[in-house]
Amino acid sequence: MENLVKLKAAIKGKKILVFGPPGCGKGNRSRDLEALGLVHVSSGIALRAKVRDDPDSELSKKAVDFMKRGELVTDDIVVPIIMEHLNRDECRKNGFVLDGFPRTKAQADVLFSQVGIDLVLYLDVPHKFLLYGIVEGNRRVCVDCATGYSDFDPPRKESVCDKCGGKLIRRTDDNIKTIENRLKLYEEQTKPFLQDIQTKANVEILLITVSDEEVIDDKYLKKLRGRVYWAQTDQGGKARMLNLEGMRMRLYNLLAEIFIAPAK
Ligand code: AMP
Repeated sequence: MENLVKLKAAIKGKKILVFGPPGCGKGNRSRDLEALGLVHVSSGIALRAKVRDDPDSELSKKAVDFMKRGELVTDDIVVPIIMEHLNRDECRKNGFVLDGFPRTKAQADVLFSQVGIDLVLYLDVPHKFLLYGIVEGNRRVCVDCATGYSDFDPPRKESVCDKCGGKLIRRTDDNIKTIENRLKLYEEQTKPFLQDIQTKANVEILLITVSDEEVIDDKYLKKLRGRVYWAQTDQGGKARMLNLEGMRMRLYNLLAEIFIAPAK
């Protein structure tokens, strides 16, 4: 993308939140934003790191218990961990992309009153795509950088991350029962305060799917090994899902429109 240098300069220091249901691609979109220079802060990764580094603490045991069941870890555990990350110098200087937080109204209130957000990217994905990618697509994530892959968008070498060479694993909470629970919690507890967020920050909807009519460059679909994924949209039309490369281009073009649009 010719404007990449301009985009990197324009986005420096920005505070961006990616918002959407489990499996919608928050992690991968965050990696795309990280490639522009923002610091990636993910509550899921931060919690898993906490548990891995200090497995015997009371806090870790409590957190693991919730995570195994696909339930939300309590605010008193999550909020301090995330606020500590966001207050680091690197986040203040470079800006950040926040992923997986807030998930409750209380978390959102702390975030907006103490840190603020410049832009919310709401990733809109039909539910059937979510389960499809995680379960049928056999989602696996990199233990080091958290990039996600599936059979529909596989790594070049099996079990090895394309981006950093880290090991790819299946998440233990990526089973159908836990995912259904996570989706239910998203609908009940997280999505409802999107409206509230809309009054506090600029919210842009980033579609992961493209409609039947929309023309997209076929080279972005090649990685799908010749397969294109169709789903019925809410409006009854057909939609197909973009792969990693297609999504990255869509995201960068949207950001360029927002941050480096020519002055009117
Ligand atoms: P994720 O990697 O974002 O899917 O998060 C994995 C699990 O970590 C979730 O199913 C929750 O149990 C927990 N978790 C992550 N972020 C939060 C949050 N903001 N509030 C509460 N629990 C969270």
